[in-house]
Amino acid sequence: MDGRALLALQDIDAALDQLRHRRARLPELAGRAAAASTVRTLRDERSAAQALVAAAEAEIAAAEQVALDLAAKRARLEGQLKTIISPREAEALMHEIAVLDARRDELDDTELEALGRQEEAEDAAAIAERGLPAAEAALADADAALAAATAALDGEQDERLGERSVAAAAVTGRDLEEYERARKQFDGVAIARLDGMRCSGCHLDLARADLDALRALPDGEVGECPQCGRYLMVRT
Ligand SMILES: [Zn+2]
Repeated sequence: MDGRALLALQDIDAALDQLRHRRARLPELAGRAAAASTVRTLRDERSAAQALVAAAEAEIAAAEQVALDLAAKRARLEGQLKTIISPREAEALMHEIAVLDARRDELDDTELEALGRQEEAEDAAAIAERGLPAAEAALADADAALAAATAALDGEQDERLGERSVAAAAVTGRDLEEYERARKQFDGVAIARLDGMRCSGCHLDLARADLDALRALPDGEVGECPQCGRYLMVRT
């Protein structure tokens, strides 16, 4: 097993892992999400307000239609009133007219109330509408910032992948298989360095006797950390 070649590969893989980590936590991702949320909220507010305007308008149109019907009916009754001589019949007609007038007053109130709601909703829609251009511009900026940050990471990743294929070519097929297996088992770090008395994989100090045994290995030979089980290079 060529420990130095594996370490070179391990360093590149660690850099690639680091890149993936950075990609998942790009501040530009959070910035873009916040900008998109602002735009979404404003659009939702505008749609909700527009729906309220439409509902109020429909209510007003319906009330106006009923008012027209009432006016026609009232005119008819007034016509009848002119041709009637019996006071009892006249009284009945006047009562009917009074009922129509009361209904008309109610309608006017309903219409006024709907007009108020329409105006309020129009204001709310206008406020959302006014806020949208700036929010959409901020979202476009956030998109561009995210694209630039992602492109920078893509560039770094391509570079590392190029290095990796060179480093992997220097390792035998069997060692590569074993390395990949150990990487899966040991959370991405298959082979560690001895850093003073400490394993760079598990960050624990080795016992004196273990150190002596590892140091007695021939140059370039790969040992194993007695603590974490990772491959361990004593002299790199
Ligand atoms: Zn260790």
